Amino acid sequence: MNQKTFVGGVHPADSKHDSDTKPIEACPLPEQLIIPLSQHIGAPAEALVKAGDLVFKGQTIAKASAFVSVPIHASTSGQVIAVEPRLHPCGKMLPAIVIEADGEDHWDPSLEGIDPAQWTGDELRQRISDAGIVGMGGATFPTHVKLSPPEDKLIDTLMINGVECEPYLTADHRLMLEQSDKIMDGIDILRRVLGVKHTIVGIESNKPDAIACMAKAGANHGIQVQALEVKYPQGAEKQLIDALLGREVPSAGLPMDIGVVVQNVATAAAVSDAIRLGRPLVERVVTISGPAVAEAKNLRVRIGTPLSFLVQQCGGNKYEVSKIIMGGPMMGQSQLSLDAPAVRGTSGLLLFGEKDLAKIEAGPCIRCGRCVGACPLHLLPATIASYATLGMFDEAEAHSALDCMECGCCTYICPATRPLVQTLRHAKGGILAKRRRS
Ligand code: SF4
Ligand code: SF4
Repeated sequence: MNQKTFVGGVHPADSKHDSDTKPIEACPLPEQLIIPLSQHIGAPAEALVKAGDLVFKGQTIAKASAFVSVPIHASTSGQVIAVEPRLHPCGKMLPAIVIEADGEDHWDPSLEGIDPAQWTGDELRQRISDAGIVGMGGATFPTHVKLSPPEDKLIDTLMINGVECEPYLTADHRLMLEQSDKIMDGIDILRRVLGVKHTIVGIESNKPDAIACMAKAGANHGIQVQALEVKYPQGAEKQLIDALLGREVPSAGLPMDIGVVVQNVATAAAVSDAIRLGRPLVERVVTISGPAVAEAKNLRVRIGTPLSFLVQQCGGNKYEVSKIIMGGPMMGQSQLSLDAPAVRGTSGLLLFGEKDLAKIEAGPCIRCGRCVGACPLHLLPATIASYATLGMFDEAEAHSALDCMECGCCTYICPATRPLVQTLRHAKGGILAKRRRS
């Protein structure tokens, strides 16, 4: 199969070999689950329970507080022991519902699945919203919002993201191998909601088994599977659309502006569970890997499971851990400790020791231009960084600094190891702060 791709990007070692052959295992039930009210893009959910309440698994424990928001559900049955600030993966203390598990894991008996063929697109969209489905690739944008394009945006293509281009992560890979039929069912439901026929699934060519499996499962559904060159950030929405359709999302625009809605493979599987089984989003697959972990695994994890519990299930750490990353090494979030819980956007948990980390001493820019060639958005990273360092935020904005998606390609490729993505982040912060003041 020919391989498509986009212009720019980098080729980090994929480092997936420790976990890509490991079947998904069910993570045991921890004693306590810490379920943050903010696990998605948009307004945090509002708690509906208080300490002392008994809850079923799947019960709504916090309601959506705006259109761009989703409800939160109990990930197991038990007793609410606190609604209070707890360490969030973002590094802040944020409100969370803490549940002490009763060990029964009883589903809410009122939850019922339906046959999507008997329901309208609007009704299915409402069920997806009620189930708290968000983008599972890490972005956590509420799925019902993406499925609600304004009337003037004509959607002609549903694009399914099976790229998983971040090094180490293999959760989506395993899901495509083990649950391709469920993913296809979810895709059919998403197509019904959007009213589109044309669907493409994009998968990087380092997963030939997943490409074969998904192509076989998709054949009966009229769903096309396309191999993509192995290149980071091939899984970013704009780059995926560029590679698969040759269309360009306008600056500050959205895929729906050019007729496309992108959903992740794990999101499609979650949609199938929500509709067919009536089960809200209370668990996800997480890759636990990195050189310092004793045994890399792909675990099916209840939302709210402490990260320390996940590491225990993998035999602990082989040596002292110096860096913990939630997500992938390119765009993931550094963690202060393993006390934070797994949330809906937790695709991976990576452990590194001191010896695994590169020693970085930034040198002067040698004007080689490699950061420009690597930037998938065709920005001028070195130029914008110079403006940001001098506090010249108007000039940085004029060079489209706000378009930067913080993918880190420029930093990765720079032979002088300059902290470009960090400086670009500073530029964006400076521009937005200036806007707020004026
Ligand atoms: S971090 Fe920003 S400037 Fe650097 S390569 Fe990515 S998009 Fe371009
Ligand atoms: S890659 Fe580094 S050294 Fe080369 S132009 Fe960009 S900032 Fe300068």
